Amino acid sequence: MKPGNLFIAFLITALLFPVSSPAEPSASREEIQTWMTYLSDDARQGRASGTPEMIETGNWLAQQFANLGLEPLPGQEDFFQHFSMEDPDSAEQTPGRNILGILPGTATGEDRHYLIISAHYDHIGTRSAADANANNSTDRIFNGANDNASGVAAMLGIAGYLERAIANDELARPTFSILFAAWDGEEKGLRGSGFFVSAPPIPLSSIDAMINLEMVGVTDGQYQNSLWLTGSEYSDLKARLQPALEADGWTVEADPFPDYSLFFRSDNAPFALGPDADRSALASALKEQRPVRFTGIPAHSISTWRGQDHYHKVKDELGLIDFENLENLVIALAGAIADLESGAIQWQSHPVFKFRRPTGEPHEAAAAASRE
Ligand SMILES: [Zn+2]
Repeated sequence: MKPGNLFIAFLITALLFPVSSPAEPSASREEIQTWMTYLSDDARQGRASGTPEMIETGNWLAQQFANLGLEPLPGQEDFFQHFSMEDPDSAEQTPGRNILGILPGTATGEDRHYLIISAHYDHIGTRSAADANANNSTDRIFNGANDNASGVAAMLGIAGYLERAIANDELARPTFSILFAAWDGEEKGLRGSGFFVSAPPIPLSSIDAMINLEMVGVTDGQYQNSLWLTGSEYSDLKARLQPALEADGWTVEADPFPDYSLFFRSDNAPFALGPDADRSALASALKEQRPVRFTGIPAHSISTWRGQDHYHKVKDELGLIDFENLENLVIALAGAIADLESGAIQWQSHPVFKFRRPTGEPHEAAAAASRE
């Protein structure tokens, strides 16, 4: 080929395939829509723990973890943590599976610390035709689009965003590893997260903090760019996330429903309070200002729910989801999480709840050293 032709060939190539600058790390709206659609589809039958549809959903989630480039936990060959849920009344056993995957940080061996990003993937299943009929409805499926397909989609979105940003050299790999966890059995009483804490596959003392995502998909066209944390006054996590989230145009608030005791009612609770805490007694301790001690990890749930009545109703469906806001939440949270400093998140002193981290804890040594 003559040089002139070469130039023309180059020109044509450049016009057909423009060399773009590296893509901005982004959450893919299509991915989020695909995940949300799969999880809240009628075919999942409301994702009740132990059902064939739930097993299928768990397998699908493990496949998404693999597609996103997450790795099994150290010493594990797959993403599953198996457990069994006993019904307190009938003693019947329901099999459960948490889905656990890691985005490794730069620190290894004894220095390896974890931040957990999680969401429960189970929901409450279906209702009988008679129950539907009594409500003048033929809809029998609790699709759980907001509770908690939205939290799972946000978790997957954060994993994808961070993996891509690190691969594109737009983000330095954090020192801490991020453990992404999809919990089973939340609706049966925080059973999957409770099992993780009672039989931890990694040392509890190596977990810096836990951020759990609960109902983050609905805005009703009026609650965009606004999130809140349960139990935000108990640790400094909110203060540490706030600057990056606000820089992205988000407002970060305390739990607007303190009377619902939501801090004790989602998968953050076993981590913060330990697996054996009597959660029912805690609200009264708070009311009576009676001090209670806990050994646990700073763990909070993030939500955007504003008290709307789709909660645990068959109308919690895909049509309620604000995908633009969900995508923006993924981008804002992923950036704020990447900015967190390993080992920095601490419990705050509180007149009633006296929290301390699990013993053998490098944080304690570091905190003691910094006081000297
Ligand atoms: Zn939920």
